[in-house]
Amino acid sequence: MSEPTSRRGIEVTIDPHRCIGIGKCAAAAPGIYTLDEETGKAVLENGEEATVEQLFAGARACPTQAIIIEQFGRRVFPRLLVPMFGDKPGENGVNAGDSGESAS
Ligand code: SF4
Repeated sequence: MSEPTSRRGIEVTIDPHRCIGIGKCAAAAPGIYTLDEETGKAVLENGEEATVEQLFAGARACPTQAIIIEQFGRRVFPRLLVPMFGDKPGENGVNAGDSGESAS
């Protein structure tokens, strides 16, 4: 996974296994999310300068939920992380069932 960034307790992680490199995040938040020329995967380029809105705009634009946003260690986006091919429920933060987030 790429380097997380901290901002108001917010950490952004881009899962390279989920990223298919189509760049919607970069279009939604230019200069914040960019595509790595070597890997073709998204990277967070200016995470420390990004606004919370920019971070979320890129994450919302991603069709594969490759951009995970946590605040103070709790995932806030996406609320439901659907499995990708090859993922097992409960692994890599993938929701184990249809119960969603815990109520705590
Ligand atoms: S929108 Fe998602 S899949 Fe596309 S480059 Fe960005 S992180 Fe990767």
